[in-house]
Amino acid sequence: MKYVSKERVIFSFNSKHEPVERVKPSELIVLEVEDAFGGQVKSEGDSLETLDWTRVDGATGPIYVEGAVPNDTLVVEILDIKPGDKGVIAVIPGYGALGSKEFRGKAKFVALKDGFAIFDGKTRVKIKPMIGTIGVAPPPGEEVPTSTPGRHGGNMDVKDVTSGTKLYLPVFAEGALFAAGDLHAVQADGELCVSSIEVAGQTLLRFDLIKGKSPRWPILETADSYMIIVAAEDLDKAAEIASREAVEALMREHGWSFEEAYMFGSLAVELKINQVVDPKKGVRAAIPKEYITLESLLR
Ligand code: CA
Repeated sequence: MKYVSKERVIFSFNSKHEPVERVKPSELIVLEVEDAFGGQVKSEGDSLETLDWTRVDGATGPIYVEGAVPNDTLVVEILDIKPGDKGVIAVIPGYGALGSKEFRGKAKFVALKDGFAIFDGKTRVKIKPMIGTIGVAPPPGEEVPTSTPGRHGGNMDVKDVTSGTKLYLPVFAEGALFAAGDLHAVQADGELCVSSIEVAGQTLLRFDLIKGKSPRWPILETADSYMIIVAAEDLDKAAEIASREAVEALMREHGWSFEEAYMFGSLAVELKINQVVDPKKGVRAAIPKEYITLESLLR
């Protein structure tokens, strides 16, 4: 099994980055990841104003997947996510859904114990470890900071990217150049205060390739749905793109006209907010598997 240490970190997705490891499809790989603050928050009294922002939102990688070429699909099977036993959540003035309000910067350590996050010593939240940042290099010539979501994946902060799911990413560069980081012990849709329970840990992954076709946006396969994960300048635009992608996929699947697929979207396509706090905002369109197959989501 391959193992990549959290020291091998990137802060942008870029096809020019040298791969730190190479894997074949079906080979197992463990990525160790730092928390999204780069491990810099050492005590709750730390002033967040002294955070070195160039060390925030790193991703472990990039991993070169043998055989991956542009227009393929990289299939990322998330087999396990193991968070450490303590995470940190912070509010930062100017950031988050309520960033325009006046408040103090503050960090809080949160113990993770027996499957629960202990928020304030007594209020417990069941943990559901997820990967916030997960993606591939954008097309050659482009560079995307690891803080920003897009068609390549990146900082999508989708709470459903958990163990047992599969992510389908469009390949834009030879070897795909995959990287992941930003584990959250648990996060609600929206991630409203800008951070969640940020935690270092490990994830066990397995890659596969679908040759010669790819999704336009990342697709997540859960037990019961396919989710089209979109990001844009604002939520309205992200919702429009996610809706259009879902309706077009339903047209291909069922041979429906636009009008029919558009109507059906109101009945069966769930639009969900991923997050409202990153440089681009995220919406996903979830289509139950009984109405769609993967084939209709790739082109
Ligand atoms: Ca994030």
